[in-house]
Amino acid sequence: MKRYYLDLIPKTNQDHELHNEFCLYMPVIINAQYIGDFSEDKKALEEALKSYPNANGCKYCCSAAHIHYEVE
Ligand SMILES: [Zn+2]
Repeated sequence: MKRYYLDLIPKTNQDHELHNEFCLYMPVIINAQYIGDFSEDKKALEEALKSYPNANGCKYCCSAAHIHYEVE
């Protein structure tokens, strides 16, 4: 199980990135919403999407939950 956090500061494409606790790109904690502990990236993303429709997995730590859009 890993702990997952959502970056509350959207990227330029409006995505809120989902990270796990080991990611180098984790936002500072004041800008991070704790989502929960999950065994799979996709389950964490599903949970994040309930509150943040623009959630998207970080391509470095949550590549299984990273959605590739036309424009990055
Ligand atoms: Zn990450």
